[in-house]
Amino acid sequence: MHEMSIAESVLGIVEDTARREGFARVTEVRLEIGALAAIEIEALRFCFDAVVHGSLAQGARLEIEATPGMAWCFDCSKSVEVAARGEPCPACGGSKLQVSGGTEMRVKDLVGA
Ligand SMILES: [Zn+2]
Repeated sequence: MHEMSIAESVLGIVEDTARREGFARVTEVRLEIGALAAIEIEALRFCFDAVVHGSLAQGARLEIEATPGMAWCFDCSKSVEVAARGEPCPACGGSKLQVSGGTEMRVKDLVGA
């Protein structure tokens, strides 16, 4: 499962950050996920709970902030917000869109003690 490897890489980042910050444990992890990142949030939550088991982030709350998908429309020459890949331009209905943002996932912040 794709979300399992994402959860593992999130845990890797969390562990590195916790070590750097001197946290003995992590209680909350804030992620930023783009609307076009093709990540199933519920599946990611499930996988995260599984991979953090036994780590310093066991039981940590996962806060997920969704960032909008952005695309450039060649028909109306505008940067527009899109909910999914393959959707028409919300401004003009055109289909010549190039995705320009909202495809990434990053660990924004974490809370530890
Ligand atoms: Zn357009």
